[in-house]
Amino acid sequence: MTDRTTIPLVDVRAQYEELRTELDEAVHRTFVEADYILGKEGERFEREFAAYCGVSAAAGVSTGLAALHLALRALGIGPGDEVITAANTFAATVLAIQHAGATPVLADVEEESLNLDPQAVTAALTPRTRALLPVHLHGQTASMGPLLELARAHDLEIVEDASQAHGAEYESKRAGSFGAAGCFSLYPTKNLGAVGDAGIVTSGRPELIERVKSLRNYGMGPKYRCDEPGYNERLDTLQAALLRVKLAKLDQWNERRRQAARAYDQLLADLPIERPRELPGRFHVYYVYVIQTDDRDAVAKHLAEQGIVTSIHYPIPLHRQPAFADLPWSRSSFPVTERLAGRMLSIPMHPHLTEDDSARVASALSSYFHGGRTNKVRERIG
Ligand SMILES: *Cc1c(COP(=O)(O)O)cnc(C)c1O
Repeated sequence: MTDRTTIPLVDVRAQYEELRTELDEAVHRTFVEADYILGKEGERFEREFAAYCGVSAAAGVSTGLAALHLALRALGIGPGDEVITAANTFAATVLAIQHAGATPVLADVEEESLNLDPQAVTAALTPRTRALLPVHLHGQTASMGPLLELARAHDLEIVEDASQAHGAEYESKRAGSFGAAGCFSLYPTKNLGAVGDAGIVTSGRPELIERVKSLRNYGMGPKYRCDEPGYNERLDTLQAALLRVKLAKLDQWNERRRQAARAYDQLLADLPIERPRELPGRFHVYYVYVIQTDDRDAVAKHLAEQGIVTSIHYPIPLHRQPAFADLPWSRSSFPVTERLAGRMLSIPMHPHLTEDDSARVASALSSYFHGGRTNKVRERIG
């Protein structure tokens, strides 16, 4: 139980409260259908999620990491191949490239979108580059126009890490519909989240999805013929059944995240912090609401003292992580990413954040920067 006075960063319990009847019914249906791995609910969820993203097919898998790993494998990307991804991302993006046996290459990000910088990508290209792996970080898509152009010009595949961007758009097309494959984590706190681990791969190439479906199931085609050495990375029927219920709510929940973001935008307008910017032609779904300030650590401490939970996505850039110390780029510098790592702070953001919550967060931020000006913020929202 959260203390009444604490404002959590996310509130997944509130999703259950809102959908209790439907979710309980989905659990019951799973027991009755008694087909606990993939199952009919798995197929229904794959169809519905593919349609949601505007692609022809999807394959449910066990995690976001598995989605990325199996998509790369299904594209035949492996040893000797380089895959360029953003320096400013979650470690799993790079791990997936390593799991596929390929070499991850980092490129810095744009200051505006915080995502993969097409110019940095151009500088990182080599004859061994096989694919680009843009990440749609924080709920806003990468600059897909220029990245798609680069991919065409250099004959590269694009695999999207859309784990933070369920429903996000770039020029009216949804995340997960740009590349050869779109890879989504369905971890509980994501915009669309399971009640445990889950992930999904989307694609407009049916044969690619068939290969992911084989790889997730030991590399088997028909039972029990093993066509290639695969994995066990399947989606649970129960998760799929629950995800179908939540998928029907996703647009509404994203809209509520956007409302909460607009409230923050107004309430924080006068403070000396950088707010997230929704770029022209993009539809931001605010997986997190990330502010930037040079006083980050002191601000986080001040908010914590007032019962407001914050986080940092992400505090240690990948090229400074011990796990990647052997990679040549561990000795490189990615100035935009480094600056972001020292300045970013995620403040409470979820579809069930109330106006009172966002006002309290804004007021706490205001009191850090202006001490006595707290009342001004209260008046404006009053
Ligand atoms: C959550 C996340 C992942 C990993 O997903 P899991 O389901 O935890 O394996 C990968 N990339 C990004 C950008 C993420 O946010």
